[in-house]
Amino acid sequence: MSYCIRYIDLPCRVNGVTIMDRDGFFNVYINARLDYRCQQKAIQHELMHIARGDFFSEGELEQVELM
Ligand SMILES: [Zn+2]
Repeated sequence: MSYCIRYIDLPCRVNGVTIMDRDGFFNVYINARLDYRCQQKAIQHELMHIARGDFFSEGELEQVELM
């Protein structure tokens, strides 16, 4: 499983998002505004989605986050 973690400014209510590109590579974006502990939690959360196979297409991301 290959993924890349990047820190970017996201809206405050968003801790992190994961987007799978067409090659099946996961791009994990973590909110740079969070403190270190929250970022670690957000990373764990996104990796959980990846491990569960929640990301089949970019379009399903919103549905996944509602679960
Ligand atoms: Zn999530």
